[in-house]
Amino acid sequence: MAETTERERKKLFVQLMYSLKEYTTEVIADQEAVKPIVLELLKFHHPIKLVDYEYGLSRSLKKNHRLIIKESEDKTKAREYIKIATSWYCSNRVSQRSIRCTSANLEIKYGIVFAPNNHNDICIAKDYSYVMKIQGFYKQGKSHEARSFIKKNGSSSNKSLTDSMLEDSILNEPNLSALADLETATPLS
Ligand SMILES: [Zn+2]
Repeated sequence: MAETTERERKKLFVQLMYSLKEYTTEVIADQEAVKPIVLELLKFHHPIKLVDYEYGLSRSLKKNHRLIIKESEDKTKAREYIKIATSWYCSNRVSQRSIRCTSANLEIKYGIVFAPNNHNDICIAKDYSYVMKIQGFYKQGKSHEARSFIKKNGSSSNKSLTDSMLEDSILNEPNLSALADLETATPLS
């Protein structure tokens, strides 16, 4: 999916402002003031309705360090975003494989979640039920159960799952600098 056209973005902006309450609990008093920033975001991102995402726990049980977003065309599938410092990355960008997802950062502005439009071929959405099952373990503080569940079911679901297993264990300095390199390639850095 290429960059959206200016005309498409303006149309998306009007639609977004019209149904703003479906996307954010914040009030935008001056829509003209936010327009340039939102139009810029809409080049490579799309807004996500409140009903289509939720916050979750990281593997180290940190609250609000995951964002689980249902796929727009198939709500039984989801992509996970993970928070590192103040930035959000597709979970398949944080991978030990040399080929990673090349998506832009997820952005949150005015309480609206803007997910990147483009993921690459290696980035496959997971089953929503699978993601939530693991979140269920995390919510109960059962990291070990989550880990064995991932081990047992990871290979049968899809390839990208193993990356999530690695995720928290590889968030150390060298990997953060690798992410910083990636970040320079994103349109909003
Ligand atoms: Zn991705």
